[in-house]
Amino acid sequence: MNLFSSKKPYIIAGPCGAENEHQMLSIAEEFKNLPIDMIRAGVWKPRSKPGNFEGMGETALPWLNQVKKIAGKPVCIEVANSIQVELALKYNIDAVWIGARTTVNPFAVQEICDALKGNPIPVLVKNPINPDVELWSGAIERMMAIGITDIAAIHRGFSSYDSTSKYRNKPMWAIPIELKRRYKELPIICDPSHIGGNRDLIAPISQRALDMDFDGLMIEVHPTPDDALSDAKQQITPSVLKDILANLILRKPTVDSDTEIENIRLVLDSMDAEIVDILGKRMEMVKKLALIKKKYNMPIFQQDRWCEIIESRNQWGKANELDETFILQLYQLIHDKSIKTQFDFLQRNEE
Ligand code: PEP
Ligand code: MN
Repeated sequence: MNLFSSKKPYIIAGPCGAENEHQMLSIAEEFKNLPIDMIRAGVWKPRSKPGNFEGMGETALPWLNQVKKIAGKPVCIEVANSIQVELALKYNIDAVWIGARTTVNPFAVQEICDALKGNPIPVLVKNPINPDVELWSGAIERMMAIGITDIAAIHRGFSSYDSTSKYRNKPMWAIPIELKRRYKELPIICDPSHIGGNRDLIAPISQRALDMDFDGLMIEVHPTPDDALSDAKQQITPSVLKDILANLILRKPTVDSDTEIENIRLVLDSMDAEIVDILGKRMEMVKKLALIKKKYNMPIFQQDRWCEIIESRNQWGKANELDETFILQLYQLIHDKSIKTQFDFLQRNEE
């Protein structure tokens, strides 16, 4: 049986980065009696900009051996090249994960596979930073091809340019669900820390993942999160982790058809949440438009613009197999509301 399916939910926790021996030993002590199945710690940290904490490298590997002994739990680290794999193997690290910035690069993934060949330790493959299910499954298939059987995918969300999103990395649940559809036996673990980027979002995202039948969670935990050298805002203390784990609700579906329906409904729920979120943002943009129209003394409703909207939206609709009547009715509603919003907004501004 796949190691990561041996318990549901399979819980991986630990600091973003192994910073010093004291921090790691404190984590080991705290984790001894918590329901955690594997301990994580980044030893080489991929940072977007130079000059930030890039991990302690090989120095940290003996600390992980101590953690393993004290806590009595397996440990995992991130690897991004063959040298790091060799060091992980040399120090008997139990499992490795492929980071989001590595999954995007088939050369790097293949280099890691070549270094693991003959030493098939468990591997966790994070999704690529861009929402590309092919890249994600490609990396997983490369691991399968070298005979690794204990493989799990980690869903850590997808990078986007949208600075107004409440997530650091958008979950886009439809993508991990598609991966699950392709590989029914592959465990998928959710990383709410990198999706949320904020410790307040860990509990709701974790619950959502379990409700979507994910197989486990990977959560960043630090003895003193505010002092963390990387990802401070999203890390939680061991005692907060304990509470979160204790409060998670495990919903057990009764029959298979219920699970299938439930899975699709959960995807629909998150899609609708995105649609409503975008509609809200659209109305905010419309208010900005109203102010500009007022500044230049322009009419709120412009016939040409309305025709243009219908024409372009119809084209987009066609490309998505949505019929003209539906698009027309939908945009009559949206456009109507947007005109009304502009009038109301300007009127309120004048009062
Ligand atoms: C991490 O797990 O600390 C990490 C760097 O994650 P990601 O590859 O998801 O950004
Ligand atoms: Mn991190």
